[in-house]
This record gives sequence, structure tokens and C-alpha cells, in this order.
Amino acid sequence: MKFVEFLNSPEKTTVGKIVCVGRNYAEHAKELGNEVPEFPVLFLKPASALIYSGDTIIKPAFSNEMHHEIELVLLVGRDLKDASEEESLAAITAYSIGLDMTLRDVQNVLKKKGEPWTIAKCFDTSAVISKLIKISENPLSPEMNLSLSVNGNLRQSSKLENMIFSPSRLISYISSRMMLEPGDLIYTGTPAGVNKVEPGDILVGKLDELISLEAKVG
Ligand code: ZN
Repeated sequence: MKFVEFLNSPEKTTVGKIVCVGRNYAEHAKELGNEVPEFPVLFLKPASALIYSGDTIIKPAFSNEMHHEIELVLLVGRDLKDASEEESLAAITAYSIGLDMTLRDVQNVLKKKGEPWTIAKCFDTSAVISKLIKISENPLSPEMNLSLSVNGNLRQSSKLENMIFSPSRLISYISSRMMLEPGDLIYTGTPAGVNKVEPGDILVGKLDELISLEAKVG
């Protein structure tokens, strides 16, 4: 069983499923040679893959190309099925930042074969998450900047307004394809600048100066 923790609160929430969105920033879709999608591209990670800021990301031996993807993460606070955008927005109770670690070499082979991306995305330690901020304490703004540095060098940086599908549109769409429940996490896609990391690298993610996350590659 995995939990998430909040800034400024001793509360913990049990994590349900992790729904991830692919290709939600046009510049990132381009850098991987993908079309900008008409609907969000969705995949799942198991909650068992979750680790926290300060933990170590372990690269599986069957990959030679593990990429970082920094993302805004949303916490769902109520049951949602076929929800409107308004209902979806009201159901986001907190947010944080996370890393959707990806085995790019494995994913490229799977893509070519037309197979699901699961093996490239589900490995243990592949989902890093920071502490969450409650929307009631600090509302989410499109002006906020999401960034990731590796060993002190800036690799990814984008305002949230560059997302193709907004948080409420994403959640509304996801709820039309699968039920969402309290404790579910949504990884909302990564901006351009994804790249390979190696053992010993230190990854630092930030959402403005509000939240930060640090993880080492092992
Ligand atoms: Zn991602």
C-alpha cells in the first residue's frame, strides 16, 4: 500500500491507481517524432512503482536508456464517472510534481511492434512524487513553471499553460474511459527536454518555489 503526504499537514492519503498522460506538450510530442494528439494518450502505472522525494530511482538491468519526465501531478478527491470539466476541476483536491521515469529504448521497441508501453513505464521506482499542496491552500495557476535539473543543469522548463489538455479536460476525458476514485493520481505529461540519466545523477524538480523534489539515480 502506498501513501502520499501533504506540505503543512500530517495527513496521509492512500494511493489508488496512477493514470499517466502522454504527449500533453506540443514541443515534447515533436521532439519524440509524435503527432500532437486529438485526445489525450493514456497509460497506467501501478501504485507499487511510487517512491518519494529523497529516494533512489533504480534503473532496471534490461534497459540502457532511462529518461526523466518531470510532470504536474493531480490528486483526485472524489468518485468521478463521465464527469463534466466543472465537476472534474472541483474534484482536484491537491497537486504536486512527479517524475514519470521511462525506459525509452524499451518503449521504442514496443511502439514499433504495436505493443502496450507497460514494460517501459511500470518498473519499481518509476514514479517519483513530491509532497502535495492542497488546492484550498494554494490554487493551481497556468502561470506556474515546472522545471527539472540534472546535476545542476536545467533540462526541462515550461509554464503549465503550455499543456495541450488542461487539468479539468484531462480528468473529464479520463473519467469517460475509466472510473476515477479518491486517492487516484494523474501524471499530466511532460514538457520538452527529456533525456537519459545515469547512476549517480541527481534530479531536482520544481514547481516555482512552491514544491521541490529530489531523487538520485542508483
Ligand atoms: Zn510522462
